[in-house]
Amino acid sequence: MPLKNWVHDLDAMSQVEADVAYIVNPHNPTGTAHSRAAIERFVELSRAALVVVDEAYIDFTDDPEQTTVMPLAREGDVVVLRTLSKVYALAGLRVGYMVASREVVATLRKIRPPFSVGALAQAGALAAVKDNTHKQRVRDHVLRLRGEVTRIVQQVGYVAVPSQANFVLVETPDELAFVARLASHGIQVRPGSALGLPGTVRISVPSDSGLALLRRALARVAIAREVWT
Ligand SMILES: *Cc1c(COP(=O)(O)O)cnc(C)c1O
Repeated sequence: MPLKNWVHDLDAMSQVEADVAYIVNPHNPTGTAHSRAAIERFVELSRAALVVVDEAYIDFTDDPEQTTVMPLAREGDVVVLRTLSKVYALAGLRVGYMVASREVVATLRKIRPPFSVGALAQAGALAAVKDNTHKQRVRDHVLRLRGEVTRIVQQVGYVAVPSQANFVLVETPDELAFVARLASHGIQVRPGSALGLPGTVRISVPSDSGLALLRRALARVAIAREVWT
């Protein structure tokens, strides 16, 4: 289903008869999020047999409690997916988890690989989820710098989609020039055409020193755009 104003079109999606409705909340690559209430309503209306909610970025929302639908996962027709790749920065360990009814879990057990998560990855994952200060530090950093990235993007005249994730989607007609310019300053961003959204670039929230670099580079991008147009 096409997005509407950069968000899942839940009304249109709820009309579709399907085996699975897959909602990414917050969404990648737009960074937009629906409230818990909106998804609860969708689950009530949906004609899909199963609603899967991918919450890879849930910890970066302004209010995770009001965004997650984890409590619905016990109902049987909602499945919640989480990963340790994002807020825990453990993408290399390949660890995530699903919360679902016993019935759904039992079905997936039949087809999952028998040794899917290695012992070292399990040890690393357990240590990470017990370390709340680390998670809080990452979250605080992302929320602060997400605001900064959004501001400097807007200051140089681009439209930034308001983000609830650890990246900011920027609208630009000169996508490839934008990517190339930032690359010449040592900054790598994803072109939207590689993510199914041509006419945009996705900027990941950087470190503090990365932000200073981004600020200088974006000023140059804006100057170049004015010279060319
Ligand atoms: C990163 C991400 C995941 C999780 O991927 P991993 O394989 O656990 O690293 C899932 N869904 C979305 C939308 C993501 O961006």
